[in-house]
Amino acid sequence: MSALESLHFLTERRHPTVIEILLLLRKLERKGFDIIFSWVPGHVGILGNEQADTAARSMSDHMQRPVCYQDLKTSAQNYIHRVWQETWDQQVLNKLHSIHPSTSHWAALPVRRHDVHLTRLRIGHTRFTHRHLLLSENAPECPSCKVPYSVYHILIDCPVFNRHRVTFFHTSVLTLSDLDENKKQCNKHRKPAYNYKPDDTVAIQRTQFGTGLKLRPKYFGPYEVTKANKHHRYEVQKIGQHEGPNVTSTSAAKMKKWCTH
Ligand SMILES: [Zn+2]
Repeated sequence: MSALESLHFLTERRHPTVIEILLLLRKLERKGFDIIFSWVPGHVGILGNEQADTAARSMSDHMQRPVCYQDLKTSAQNYIHRVWQETWDQQVLNKLHSIHPSTSHWAALPVRRHDVHLTRLRIGHTRFTHRHLLLSENAPECPSCKVPYSVYHILIDCPVFNRHRVTFFHTSVLTLSDLDENKKQCNKHRKPAYNYKPDDTVAIQRTQFGTGLKLRPKYFGPYEVTKANKHHRYEVQKIGQHEGPNVTSTSAAKMKKWCTH
């Protein structure tokens, strides 16, 4: 689907393969061919698609083509992330490893103050547990367990807080990842607001779904951000010829970055 969309929409950063296909199409049209593209959900088991797939694969074996830098960049990024993850997998004694075993990005909470609190809890550095270092005082101690207070002790170990665990998590036995899973559930449907700038190329979400639109793309694009307003709202203008309003105002939650590959 995204391949067909990239043939249809005009963007400045078009993939070289797309440009090549468009030139070929124009050539064929001049020779009187009428090419119709059709998107079929799922390739397997459809004879025509299987044949087209095999033909495409047999050609790519013989083609000596330069690799586009965008593809190279994606491949390099994937490789670097894999090496990074493999290295991190071995750092099991690093105290941050158990908190975040994956090198994937941690989505920020929409309210910065909450995000700061959450990060402090994750890394175990809070004013309550660490201020004694700045004030040259003794470390605060749990009066019940007679151990120094730590975020881990309060959240996971200390029996004094069992009833809070039961109230909020319905169990008194928790791990740090259980707590993080819970946070993920809370934010599952909330996407962090991305800050777009004027001149950014974006896609905007279709807001009206009439009948028979199920297979139509959920987003219109490309659009250019013309103005950033308050509360993550933006004014956008259509680039090129495609479906969707020419000029409109929308919110960050209903936009995404325009992806050219
Ligand atoms: Zn305790």
